[in-house]
Amino acid sequence: MQRANRPDLIWGLGLEDSLCKAIEEALGSGYHLRNWPIDGLPSKRDMDKASPLTVWIPLSVWNALPPSSRKHLRDWELTQRVLLLDGPHDGPDVEEILELGFLTALTTPITANKIRDAVFRAKEVRGLYDDIFSMTREIMLERELLARKTDQIIFLNTVLTRASQSLEPGTILSNAQEDLSLLFPVQGLQGAFWQPAEDGRLEAELFLAPGLDQHGKQLWVEFLLASAAKLAGGPIDAFTVENLFQISPDSVLPEPGSQTAMLLPLKVAGNCFGCLAIAKPKEVRLGKDQLVSLNAAANHLALALRNAMLFREVKTKADHDGLTRIHNRQSFDERLADELKRHQRYAHNLTLLLFDLDHFKAVNDTYGHQAGDMVLKDVGIILDESCRDTDFAARFGGEEFVVILPQTNEDQAWVLAERLRRKIEQKLFQYAGRSFQVTASIGVATLTPGSLDKRDDLIRKADQALYLAKSSGRNMVCVSQPEQKMKAMAMARPA
Ligand code: GH3
Ligand code: MG
Ligand code: MG
Repeated sequence: MQRANRPDLIWGLGLEDSLCKAIEEALGSGYHLRNWPIDGLPSKRDMDKASPLTVWIPLSVWNALPPSSRKHLRDWELTQRVLLLDGPHDGPDVEEILELGFLTALTTPITANKIRDAVFRAKEVRGLYDDIFSMTREIMLERELLARKTDQIIFLNTVLTRASQSLEPGTILSNAQEDLSLLFPVQGLQGAFWQPAEDGRLEAELFLAPGLDQHGKQLWVEFLLASAAKLAGGPIDAFTVENLFQISPDSVLPEPGSQTAMLLPLKVAGNCFGCLAIAKPKEVRLGKDQLVSLNAAANHLALALRNAMLFREVKTKADHDGLTRIHNRQSFDERLADELKRHQRYAHNLTLLLFDLDHFKAVNDTYGHQAGDMVLKDVGIILDESCRDTDFAARFGGEEFVVILPQTNEDQAWVLAERLRRKIEQKLFQYAGRSFQVTASIGVATLTPGSLDKRDDLIRKADQALYLAKSSGRNMVCVSQPEQKMKAMAMARPA
């Protein structure tokens, strides 16, 4: 409003007083004339600061100007130059001068009409310039927006493509961590997924960005658990933690807070099963369009992660024995084939333990089949808990179990087998108010480096050793080489 009332500025360079008066009179109060004296013409800085509508320059003044001043005047975009032909002149032709960028040239006598006409034309040109400037600004803004939109489409396309490329939740999250960096500076991505266990308690799986010290880890775990509890509508009763791949070696995670952690709930068909927590620098604020892209990415990631989890669930079911929850015969076969290849390639020892519960039929007969099932379950737990990460325990069938021990020689295997035998022997089973004990016989067979034995040979040897343990009195560990001194603890099971 104020701007509209401000008079338009007009400059004169070395104008005579009479001309100044004529201009002021012709234009009236809406204009303000500033006439620069011939010996104090405006500098480049003065010109840059002001933006008069026109600058009136007598030809005599123009001719006297140094070339640099003339250049500055010519380069002045918004201000229209008006040339005043103040008497006879020699030097360049008027036409030539006009070509140098003057709006018009006024001849004497300089009448009020001529002055108003020149100002009117200057205003028109200024209006055109203003339009061009605002259009250019709009085009530049559009272009910027288009570039941002293109970046966002590339981002979404990358997230969509990569999320569908894996069925491994950890890999999907690690890739997402990288892809999100296309949208804004991401310092780390963490995730929490929850589901009710059989007993109705909520179990969560947490994925943490790497590179956290103990304190940082604790803070993020607390943050994820609190967020999960809020979204799940109840406290998390148990959780596991997995580390993701490093996003970049020097990325340092901030402590979780309202400005450093962005929480994205993960939902499929309205059901919230997890959340992502994106760590970002405090000062980074996302635009509305970036938030829209981020939400679209989260929706797709939710779908990909849900699929990956369902796939993992189905695979776990297919690989595990329904009763004992340890691996089943089929996954044992696959694992043994892999371990045999590794044994041949790297010339490691490979040992197999074959277990058979002693007089198990009698357990069923005495205490009932359900008591027998409970024993099998508990033996599965003992095997699972006693094995190293590299070992592989499975139910071989019925009341028989196997353990694959990679990079383990016969002596080491015998020690482990003996420990397992003793654990089973010492376990007091209780069913329907009655307690009882169970023993196991274990056969040990080892493939030494360079052995030409095949899969069936290893199982046959373990079976032979198991037979030896059974025939030698049960509740003992026997190795497959009969010539070797039998390493066994013959302990007759109390009848
Ligand atoms: P041995 O010491 O010679 O191994 O005697 P055993 O009684 O253990 O051997 P046998 O082969 O005669 O009997 C195995 C028993 O294991 C018979 C079978 O009913 C029982 N069994 C196999 N699978 C299961 C199961 O899933 N649950 C229960 N409760 N029993 C099972
Ligand atoms: Mg048997
Ligand atoms: Mg048996």
